[in-house]
Amino acid sequence: MSNHDVAGQKNMKGVAVSSGIIIGKAHLVDRTKTKILYKYLINDEEINSEVERFENALLTTEQQLVRLKNGMPEHVKEHSFILDSHLMILKDSMLKDSTIKRILDEKINVEWALKKSIVAIRQNFEQIDDDYISNRINDVEYVTERIFRNLSGKDQRGLDTINQRVIIVAHDLSPADTTELNVDRVKGFITNVGGRTSHTAIMAQALDIPAVVGLEAITAQVSEGDILIVDGSTGNVIINPDDNTILFYEKKKFQHEEYKSNIARVSHLPAESIDGHRISITANIEFLEEVAAVKSHGGKGIGLYRTEFLYLRSKGIPDEEELFEDYREVAEIIAPNPVTIRTLDLGGDKFVSKIEMATEMNPALGLRGIRLCLKLPDIFKSQLRAILRASAYGNIQLMFPMISGLQEILDAEQIMKEVKDELDHNNIEYDHDIKTGIMIEVPSAVTMAETFAQYVDFFSIGTNDLIQYALAIDRINEHMAFMYQPFHPAIIKMIKHVVDSAKKTGISVSLCGEMAGDPLCLPLLIGLGIDELSMNSSAIPLSKRVIRSLSIKDARSDLKHVITLGTSREVRTYLLDRMKALLPELVEKGYLHGM
Ligand code: PEP
Ligand code: MG
Repeated sequence: MSNHDVAGQKNMKGVAVSSGIIIGKAHLVDRTKTKILYKYLINDEEINSEVERFENALLTTEQQLVRLKNGMPEHVKEHSFILDSHLMILKDSMLKDSTIKRILDEKINVEWALKKSIVAIRQNFEQIDDDYISNRINDVEYVTERIFRNLSGKDQRGLDTINQRVIIVAHDLSPADTTELNVDRVKGFITNVGGRTSHTAIMAQALDIPAVVGLEAITAQVSEGDILIVDGSTGNVIINPDDNTILFYEKKKFQHEEYKSNIARVSHLPAESIDGHRISITANIEFLEEVAAVKSHGGKGIGLYRTEFLYLRSKGIPDEEELFEDYREVAEIIAPNPVTIRTLDLGGDKFVSKIEMATEMNPALGLRGIRLCLKLPDIFKSQLRAILRASAYGNIQLMFPMISGLQEILDAEQIMKEVKDELDHNNIEYDHDIKTGIMIEVPSAVTMAETFAQYVDFFSIGTNDLIQYALAIDRINEHMAFMYQPFHPAIIKMIKHVVDSAKKTGISVSLCGEMAGDPLCLPLLIGLGIDELSMNSSAIPLSKRVIRSLSIKDARSDLKHVITLGTSREVRTYLLDRMKALLPELVEKGYLHGM
């Protein structure tokens, strides 16, 4: 976003996404595609060495795939057939022999010859009138991307092989990449791209490692082994800091940790305002392993279980039994408090290679969330069966993401009814009164909130997407981060409309976007009348501290003023001034990034 140099050290600023300070060595990883392919002619004497270069790259690729296959954890071994098919592609004559033939006949470099082979393979695949087979082109491209990387000598190691305590510097990490991070080794990460509510950022918070994204060209500024300071609360990144800067940040790190542990001591107290208004603070989780942190941070249940990460981690589609065991365990540990399980929200920035999806120009506007589930009822039903079966073991609620119209609610309910009938037929136990809600995260759902409230048991407002769709701002685009404004008056009015609609019908309403855990947003959300705030576990202690310092009476009267303001900046300034008066230490310590 911006940078300036101070006496040898470089200061950069990006988007702060996961708080905490780390000082450590940089480790550069390349998670980008090999982009530049060039053509050049070779002479007769070079032909043999060009073929040899190709054969060496094939051999290295084969060794890597075999290594990956042998190293697969037990619970995903059943998916090793994917790697078998990749190994077969490597040996396929359409790929291997035809590329060598092109090198020999056309006297061109191997990269160009290989590219031509892929074009030919793609044309052949496109003629096949079978979606499954024609989609196998993705596997061919995956394998050839590896070959290209091996030809270019780029680093192929997975993030799970990192064996030193380092700070990862990458162009981008996908949500799937972050599932591979070994938190004992990786101290934090910084990336060129990304925004505050991208799922990669959300994963950093879940793993509780500091991270700064959207640094635009950090991979070009940092060299392997450089010393870095990453401040995940302010977005500051310092490359090769001088001694004074290191001392300053060591002190800040110490103070940050001390403050955190002071707040943590009171995190088990209820989230109650000074004038007795209580709200429920629950947690967002992505994995079963996070449940212990929910409890230790003082969460009263789980307001959002993002189930797609189990699918990302498995690199495939987990079966019903695996899902059931996972959901049951979460429900049992959290009982009697509720666990709100959100059905699959794949698409957008989260993809599973086993579910074939056409390449979309705008994935966020494409086959995502409930749309994908309704299109793939077998996958949807298997998840619903697992959730319903697990509901016999605790207090489970179910929630559908990305609802944009009533028809989707009706269709999802119809599928749910079919699943319940099957369970009844087979005498399988489940909670017959299970509460079913929807996420309100598409502007059309806001407009329709009064109608939707008649059909569901609760709403959960997903502001990460609501802001993206209402303001037409890509939530993962670092260039647009400055316009991603939770305090935009349109967003505040939308939330108000949803809360009022829910209250009118008597259903409960929670909010589970990143706004929920932002201290500066809290007075606003409480003034708006939200019943439950669901946030990353690590944000719970500080949020409770803020709520326990404010009064509902003031929050409501502040809201009356805020609702009259015309710009996001005015709203932010007003709330910031109020917070300075209420909890000055939050402002001093830089805890108010204010999204
Ligand atoms: C949201 O959109 O606000 C939300 C909580 O869901 P996700 O971040 O998983 O899209
Ligand atoms: Mg969402």
